[in-house]
Amino acid sequence: MSSYLQLSGISKTYGQFTALEAVDLDIKKGEFVTFLGPSGSGKTTTLMIIAGFETATSGSVDVAGKSLFGLAPHERNIGIVFQNYGLFPHKTAAQNVYFPLQMRGWDKAKGLKRAEEMLDLVGLKGFGHRHPKELSGGQQQRVALARALVFEPSLLLLDEPLGALDKNLREQMQIEIKRIQRALGVTTIFVTHDQTEAMSMSDRIVVFEQGRVQQVATPLELYHKPETKFVAGFIGESNLVDATITDAAAGEAGNAALGTVEYAQTDKAANGAAVTLMIRPEHIKLSRNPIDGRKNVRMKVETIVNYGDNALVIGKVGDQAMRVRVLGADVVIIREGEECCISWTRDSVYVIAA
Ligand code: ATP
Repeated sequence: MSSYLQLSGISKTYGQFTALEAVDLDIKKGEFVTFLGPSGSGKTTTLMIIAGFETATSGSVDVAGKSLFGLAPHERNIGIVFQNYGLFPHKTAAQNVYFPLQMRGWDKAKGLKRAEEMLDLVGLKGFGHRHPKELSGGQQQRVALARALVFEPSLLLLDEPLGALDKNLREQMQIEIKRIQRALGVTTIFVTHDQTEAMSMSDRIVVFEQGRVQQVATPLELYHKPETKFVAGFIGESNLVDATITDAAAGEAGNAALGTVEYAQTDKAANGAAVTLMIRPEHIKLSRNPIDGRKNVRMKVETIVNYGDNALVIGKVGDQAMRVRVLGADVVIIREGEECCISWTRDSVYVIAA
């Protein structure tokens, strides 16, 4: 993989506190990469180091093989959009978008024409004469996006740009941002703590936790093959079951409540190893009676949360809490307080080192 943006050994400390620890990352040209993680995990700090607003305590940032060391933010040719749009209130939308070109010494007539073209691209044709206060939140964010893209940046950095928008507008803007990013082919880093947003938009996701990168992978790899318990719990919903490998060659692990649980990745762990077994709720089947060819256990149903098209059934197998996701129509077979069978196949069990 030829890398376009390369972070090597980036660390950042504030006094005794380590905000980032040895972050390595390779991003390809044209990729849409999302930094995902809980609040305080280091996403924004990493972005600010790339942008040049923060200095790393150690490590390097290279774009297209050239170090950004010592370059001020405006010398890096990077477009940035923040959650609070940061538009100039006394400039019109077109003047806001023209501003970076003005700073680069563009001719005014040519620059304003280019600004209007960018506004057109972000879906704001005919809005150039309006001031920010005459635009909705979503429209202001489009102006900010146009301003970040107008000078053909080498990188586009988006720091929770949709955080202030309501749900419908957020979804609309997610689609818009992807469309524009694809049309321009600009290498993009998007920061969010919203995992569905990360899953739906990204080529790859970088999962941060406590200043470290936990995993870098495509959305589907993260979902199906999380490398750590943290990633398994953070991406989607999962049953995480503590277990001990009892027969590595046969692919068998033991848990006090579930008994022997078979898994498919027999190369994953040695006999006696403590592991976490991940079973996604949608891979578990609910039935009145045991189903042949599957691992069956009896579960006492405690809560059923109905979402219309599907339902979440929460219950206990002994002391082990289990969650099952069923299609809406299937849930009528069972009521809260009753016992049922839950079952799964060995392919649905994913082993994570504890
Ligand atoms: P959020 O989703 O809340 O924006 P984040 O993942 O972007 O979180 P960062 O803003 O990168 O997190 O912060 C990482 C850690 O560094 C946090 O614990 C934060 O408190 C700490 N931190 C950030 N800036 C400073 C500073 N100037 N001085 C001390 N600590 C700081």
